Amino acid sequence: MRCPICRKETDASPANRFRPFCSERCRTRDLGAWAGENYRVAGRETEDVEHPDDCPAPKKIIH
Ligand SMILES: [Zn+2]
Repeated sequence: MRCPICRKETDASPANRFRPFCSERCRTRDLGAWAGENYRVAGRETEDVEHPDDCPAPKKIIH
């Protein structure tokens, strides 16, 4: 397999503790990309669930 960050050939065995990345540097870069919202589009579905503004709670009228 290849590192998703730098595309370098990567050890996919459990011996590589940075899987799927080739090194700690690339793993950190990936986390930084998440923080920088580069992956925001991929996470939109989750975001919609967190803000269910389209579904107001039904009001109960108790007499
Ligand atoms: Zn890499």
